Amino acid sequence: MLYICGMKHIRFIILLVLVFPALNIFAQARLDRFKTHIKFLADDKLRGRDTGSEGEEMAAAYIIEEFKAARLQAAGPDGQWRQPFEFVASRRAGDDCALNIAGKSLKLNTDYLVFPETGDGAFSGDAVFVGYGIQAPHIGHDDYKSAGDLKGKIVVIERGSPESDNPHSKYAEFAPLAVKIETAVKQGVAGIVFVNPNKSELDEPKLSFSRRLSRESIPILWLREGKAAALNGKVISGNLRLQIDRRTGHNVVAKMDHGAPYTIVIGAHFDHLGMGTEGSLYRGEPAVHNGADDNASGTAMLIELAHSLNDQPYKRFNYVFIAFSGEERGLLGSNYFCKNPSIDLDKVSCMINFDMVGRLDKTKNTLGINGVGTSPFWKESLAK
Ligand SMILES: [Zn+2]
Repeated sequence: MLYICGMKHIRFIILLVLVFPALNIFAQARLDRFKTHIKFLADDKLRGRDTGSEGEEMAAAYIIEEFKAARLQAAGPDGQWRQPFEFVASRRAGDDCALNIAGKSLKLNTDYLVFPETGDGAFSGDAVFVGYGIQAPHIGHDDYKSAGDLKGKIVVIERGSPESDNPHSKYAEFAPLAVKIETAVKQGVAGIVFVNPNKSELDEPKLSFSRRLSRESIPILWLREGKAAALNGKVISGNLRLQIDRRTGHNVVAKMDHGAPYTIVIGAHFDHLGMGTEGSLYRGEPAVHNGADDNASGTAMLIELAHSLNDQPYKRFNYVFIAFSGEERGLLGSNYFCKNPSIDLDKVSCMINFDMVGRLDKTKNTLGINGVGTSPFWKESLAK
């Protein structure tokens, strides 16, 4: 898959796709080199090139050596090859969390679970039971209607809905925990305690960290044995501590400077899913996600284009090569680069990104190109 974005100064662009034949990039020696790169990057010893891992560093070191061999120069911050960026890999309750209900102390993970989107610190408030915590007056249901002022209160909410067994129920869109959290936060509550409804078949909720989760400022918990109505009016207090796993990922940034006024950026992400981090479809024991196609293939393309372009007379542009990390965890590396560019973005004509170029649909024999609509130029050129 080829992505094209960020268009400027279109008329100066040499479309790399169109010059591939001239680059003779698919000569046998090159194909062998492609295989060598992919074999190294997708090897088990890199353990899936997870962002911020040792495997990511091994891959980055390999790419840098190749860029050096292609006579590129470092173009990261302060003239370095690597551009570091920090990210939160996980957030979970620390062992020193405390929770009390009406003076009785409860045990983390035995009596209660802490949501990854929870706030931390000390809290205390009276419990107010608000049923399913659904506020949907347009379908004739509002659990908050007679709850009164909830500022400073800790709401107790039952999971599910009045029609939990029916996936097509009118309540279905209001049943997800994230929706209930959002609704409760809007009431200005001091905390949220979820419980399973009486006689419920529900298991414990699956609470896993995701970068998409918003971080709330209030405590959010699930009680294993809580009986919602019995909690009403009781004082719930505690102190939540979070263990936040911060890590550092690295983009690799290099340039081929021809002293030209404008620059073409060529990119590919080199990270993958490690041993099965967020985003993996695999279920089971942790296992190496090799990522040969996604995206050792695009990284190999990046490396080989660096070698090829240096041997060619195409000097009307400078070229910047970026191997991004953190893509699988949510475009972290490219996002960071755009906000903290180590090159002058005003001088960038276009950006071409390679992702999963390791296989071709043999029945159609076509290459997927995304982002063509970012400029009329691409459509015209690709049609030729
Ligand atoms: Zn990818």
